[in-house]
Amino acid sequence: VVTIMGHVDHGKTSLLDFLRKTKITSGEAGGITQHIGAYQVIHNEQEITFLDTPGHAIFSDMRARGADITDIVVLVVAANDGIMPQTLEAIKHAKKANKTIIVAINKCDLPSANVDRVKSQLAENGLQTTDFGGDTEFAEVSAITGKGMDVLLDLMALQAEVLELKANPRAIARAAIIEARVVPGRGTTATVIVESGTLKVGTPFICGPYAGKVRSLINDRGVTVKSAHPGMPVEVIGFEELPNVGDHITEMKTEREAKALANERQEAQRLIRLKPQHRNRMQDLYSMVRDGGGKAQLKLILKCDVQGSVEAIKKAVLAIVSDKVDCSFITAAAGPITESDISYATSTEAIIIGFNVKVEAKAVKSAKASGVEVKLYSIVYELIDQVREAMLGLLEPLTRESVIGHAEVRQVFKLSRGRAAGSFVTDGRIHRKAHARVVRGGIPVFDGRMSTLRRFHEEVEEVRTNFECGIRLGEFNEYQEGDIIECYKLEKYAQTL
Ligand code: GDP
Repeated sequence: VVTIMGHVDHGKTSLLDFLRKTKITSGEAGGITQHIGAYQVIHNEQEITFLDTPGHAIFSDMRARGADITDIVVLVVAANDGIMPQTLEAIKHAKKANKTIIVAINKCDLPSANVDRVKSQLAENGLQTTDFGGDTEFAEVSAITGKGMDVLLDLMALQAEVLELKANPRAIARAAIIEARVVPGRGTTATVIVESGTLKVGTPFICGPYAGKVRSLINDRGVTVKSAHPGMPVEVIGFEELPNVGDHITEMKTEREAKALANERQEAQRLIRLKPQHRNRMQDLYSMVRDGGGKAQLKLILKCDVQGSVEAIKKAVLAIVSDKVDCSFITAAAGPITESDISYATSTEAIIIGFNVKVEAKAVKSAKASGVEVKLYSIVYELIDQVREAMLGLLEPLTRESVIGHAEVRQVFKLSRGRAAGSFVTDGRIHRKAHARVVRGGIPVFDGRMSTLRRFHEEVEEVRTNFECGIRLGEFNEYQEGDIIECYKLEKYAQTL
């Protein structure tokens, strides 16, 4: 697979045109080539594929997307013009990509052509031609008269042998997208170059995050074919969605497998897309207020165990006067934190504050996906203090949490009343008098005080790393295996200004 590079007007397009017009086996469709982004030339019974978009932009783009399909770079230098800025750039790109360069010294038909000058300029830039004692192959050509073109093709075939450019046609089919578009009447089509295996009509595939199935294949002469072997450019019909240039088609065993993998990839993309959007976090508020820069908005969604706490907390928070932050409640209600609270927080950019409540399982999932901040409290003053500190942009928070240990829930025990979490202390210690929260997949689902801490049947004050214990937090009962119980202390700090 060959890419043509070089300075503008040095004859890249002319060279490709010459090869297309003269070197393609005329046949089925009268030798008229379709523009599909690449075409194949047969030279001495060997196939050479040319990417017919010249220039280094496409080359770098494809490489950046992981489609390193070019095997050989043909560097076109006009003999009358010599090395120019884009020539140097092309050399840089090709070398960085570790590609073999063959030089085509073009426009040799012109009287002003000075081949020796080009060669010495090339040598100055790290490309010693073979007759100057180096190892860079070159051909003196003319894209207009066709002089030297066969020599150039011979050199490509020779390099293909030297580089042992081979692929297994019986491997799992894999192909790189070099062009994609929507054609009226035909739907989404893309040109691919088969990298390994054989792409056949009927083959289910995955391409980026979408599944597909090869419905038909059209070669570079517009002829419908049944299969495409390695190195062959071919237009594929059968995409679910427009693929990206540089993506790969990979053969899958069944359509079902392709669909399942597509779903997995789409879900992963969705998570990545959603994550950074939600930027309203307590932490951001601190720095926003501290750095000045306009009045900040703190939007809260408050969920409490009982209506009495809702009113009390709302009143206390609204009483905090700050000239830097406007605080408002999007909602304030009694009840657990639900999935709709999370989606509400996403659309309004609010922070969710929970007091003595748990987070429902579905809400945990969507909080994780959307990056919504959920803060749980079991002590009123701690909640008020944290909100106040954030609103005043205090240099140092007055109350700071220090985590003293973690335990992992290994088994959930049913008791006569409620449930206990049979846990294993993974680091630090779990202390009977400390605070603790249940964390599931990075999201807190409950925060409260320890109501029991047991080793076997005995109540204990503390359990250290590598020991098992039974834990109960407040009235919480919905432990799950794999939950992390994070034990922490609240420490009061003197404010430093
Ligand atoms: P590109 O910008 O590198 O694609 O260059 P083009 O292929 O568009 O060529 C630029 C100009 O040089 C055109 O006017 C061509 O006709 C001319 N040209 C290209 N190759 C040759 C050649 O081998 N000999 C002569 N005399 N002119 C050429």
